[in-house]
Amino acid sequence: MTDRLSDVDVVVDSLLDTAPCGFVTFADDGTIRAANATLRDMLGYGRDELQGRRVESILNIGSRIFYQTHFFPLVKLHGRAEEIFLLLRATSGDDLATMCNAVRRQRGGEWVTDCVFMRVHERQKFEDALLRAKKAAEEANEQLEHQALELEMSEQQLLEQGEELERQRTLAEEANRAKSAFLATMSHELRTPLNAIGGYVQLLELGIQGPITEQQADALARISRAQRHLVRLINDVLNLARIEAGRVEYNLAPCNLEEMAHAVLPMVEPQLRSRGIRYFVEIAPELTAYADREKVQQILLNLLSNATKFTPANGSVTVTGAAEGERGERVRLVVRDTGVGIPAERLAHVFEPFVQVDDSHARRAEGTGLGLAISRDLACGMGGDLSAESQVGVGSAFTLTLPASLPA
Ligand code: ADP
Repeated sequence: MTDRLSDVDVVVDSLLDTAPCGFVTFADDGTIRAANATLRDMLGYGRDELQGRRVESILNIGSRIFYQTHFFPLVKLHGRAEEIFLLLRATSGDDLATMCNAVRRQRGGEWVTDCVFMRVHERQKFEDALLRAKKAAEEANEQLEHQALELEMSEQQLLEQGEELERQRTLAEEANRAKSAFLATMSHELRTPLNAIGGYVQLLELGIQGPITEQQADALARISRAQRHLVRLINDVLNLARIEAGRVEYNLAPCNLEEMAHAVLPMVEPQLRSRGIRYFVEIAPELTAYADREKVQQILLNLLSNATKFTPANGSVTVTGAAEGERGERVRLVVRDTGVGIPAERLAHVFEPFVQVDDSHARRAEGTGLGLAISRDLACGMGGDLSAESQVGVGSAFTLTLPASLPA
């Protein structure tokens, strides 16, 4: 099939007509000289409808502007253009995405531009996908930047909070030191007049300043008991204050557990006997702690006298010792009694200063509520710990753990 055009001698032969791409040739002023059937079909034009029209009329508005500002100037300058993306406008109003190659040449005494158009459905799909991906990436990036900013801010906040915490910690430490120093001084100042009271009571009791009646003796005994209680309380407060102020020195050395238990037992034996409490010691002879002997004995004495205080007649107190840890790197001393026990909700608090589970009971037992607090502090000071288990009406077990003294 041939198209014979009136003004230019352009032959669109059947091969070009049926080629799988659109073809158009237009003059420098934009007038279409010829188009193949593929392009006409693509855009919905009839046989002779395209020639004589302006080439811009088959472009959509965006491509029309692009044609005028870039495409045609480029073709004019270089004589060709390749892989230019153009949207063609069909008669139906649809836009068709195409890729265009163009060559400008002289034919029949005039300059014309020959263009082929390839549909780019797939490519556009890819480009759309790419565009979407790019947009998503940009959004993700934006989000990341936003998050980075937030992170930076919270890091700053954390830093500030850290500084604030540090400041408060220092303040708390200072307050605690001041409190301990105050307590130490106070206790010391209180002990002197209390000792004087004790001395004068003894003088009166001895009748050196004249005979006293039975009633007076009774009153003096009460004064004396109260005085001894106060001295004990003050000594405990002083001890705790010293430990908390870090003013206690630990002379660490290997100490045999069995020996220490036997050194302490005589001090509580009279009470145990007088109340009919049986007692047992089960400690392997070779068990040795690396600790301060005096402090361990102080803890043990406290645990034993508590066990004695809170165990009714005919009960029993048992001290056991054992190695702990895979290599026996710790030793354990347990003081177990069959006494009144401690309710679960109070058990966690017995190591706090001035805590007594049952005030009436403790008062009867003349405690200060400081013994366990001091004992635990001392245990920790030697690299060990003190813990308790108990069941009301069954008994209590206090466990002292200490670093073992292992042969090198
Ligand atoms: P206290 O001088 O009052 O004995 P502690 O700190 O040694 O002070 O003990 C605190 C409290 O813990 C006691 O008042 C008592 O209520 C309870 N407690 C300690 N040991 C025992 C025990 N073996 N059995 C029952 N209660 C105990």
